[in-house]
Amino acid sequence: MISEFPRVRFAPSPTGYLHIGGLRTALYNYLFAKKTGGKFILRIEDTDRARFVEGAVENLISTMNWSGLHYDEGPGIGGEYGPYIQSERLEIYKEHTEKLLESGKAYYCFCSKERLDFLRDGQKAKGEQSVYDKHCLKLTPEEVAEKLKDGLPYVVRMNVVANQRVHVKDIIRGNIDFDTNTIDDQVLIKSDGFPTYHLANVVDDHLMKITHTIRGEEWLPSTPKHVLLYQAFGWEVPVFAHLPLLLNPDRSKLSKRQGDVAVEDYRAKGYLKEALINFIALLGWNAGDDREFYYMNELVDSFSLDRINKSGAVFNLEKLDWLNAEHLRAKSDSELASLLKEELITIGEYSDDFSDELLEKVVVAMKERVKFIKEIPQNAGYFFAKPDSYDEKGIQKGWKEDTPGLLTSYMQKLKVSLIHLKKIMKLL
Ligand code: GLU
Repeated sequence: MISEFPRVRFAPSPTGYLHIGGLRTALYNYLFAKKTGGKFILRIEDTDRARFVEGAVENLISTMNWSGLHYDEGPGIGGEYGPYIQSERLEIYKEHTEKLLESGKAYYCFCSKERLDFLRDGQKAKGEQSVYDKHCLKLTPEEVAEKLKDGLPYVVRMNVVANQRVHVKDIIRGNIDFDTNTIDDQVLIKSDGFPTYHLANVVDDHLMKITHTIRGEEWLPSTPKHVLLYQAFGWEVPVFAHLPLLLNPDRSKLSKRQGDVAVEDYRAKGYLKEALINFIALLGWNAGDDREFYYMNELVDSFSLDRINKSGAVFNLEKLDWLNAEHLRAKSDSELASLLKEELITIGEYSDDFSDELLEKVVVAMKERVKFIKEIPQNAGYFFAKPDSYDEKGIQKGWKEDTPGLLTSYMQKLKVSLIHLKKIMKLL
């Protein structure tokens, strides 16, 4: 029985950094969970050992924490349905594969790479879709036992029955029908003994009682395979929601070539987390009006899955910059002053001479003129350092004999005016 409150998950593969599209998937899952009183789970899908990157999980978790997407269950904090790292769940996948093998929903395949290449090339030459020809399904149980005893390398494949239709129900994309003749006998267990994404994903979504699978559109073609797996196990299928693609301004798929795709890059460039979250939330969702400025708690209040668009969302950097400026100005002066202090420390320009009071005065003078905190020391370094050069020509032209005297008397007059001003202000 699926739980009463929604349970959703963000299930990244640790590739070394958090992709901006991954942040959007995580955010929509988070918003949905918070809005509905459900649970937001982090699950690490690390069964592809060839793509393993040292330190990637830690990096991912720290980026999620920075952006405020705190999970209810997951690595580090645990939960009722752990472990939440797939490489720690290998026994579970093995047990489930046994069940599929026993019921004939899966079978051992001993085909060599050469045979598979030969098969694929032949299908390609005939213009056919490349699918496995079920060669090993014909093996008798005795033949299988013999090959296993001999230690032959093998994979386990899903047995997809031909001439059937698979229905996928998706909140965003509607109902989609797939023909099983176009679905390959997907490998479930690889020759290294690790499960493929498909098997591990379905087993875990079921065992972790996931009610809604909210993920990027690139996983839509895999979904009929997943539905077949749920059916093979006799399990309830979760609700699917496939999020629209993220596009470059020229409507090509968002790629590294056209700009940054790692959340860490935006953080390093000085974007405020509030602005990045606000911007990402609007990539594919709106509340039905033209409101653009949101804080996280307001996003939680307004969010709903049925207002997510089908069409690709264009990543517009100018809008992100604009939102950054808006969020910056919405902060209190003391908050801005402490951000400025952090920035000055980072760039190595901070000295004890800068009191909080001075920093606040600087941000008041500058906040309407900048989009990023780092622009304050860049554009107005004179607040923090004495000038170390002057314009020679200007001096030659404007510096007369009486200039020092005039400047001194001007300075005294300013001081007197300041005293008068203070007195007047006290009277008011
Ligand atoms: N591990 C997949 C990824 O890296 C998860 C896809 C899904 O959410 O099912 O995006």
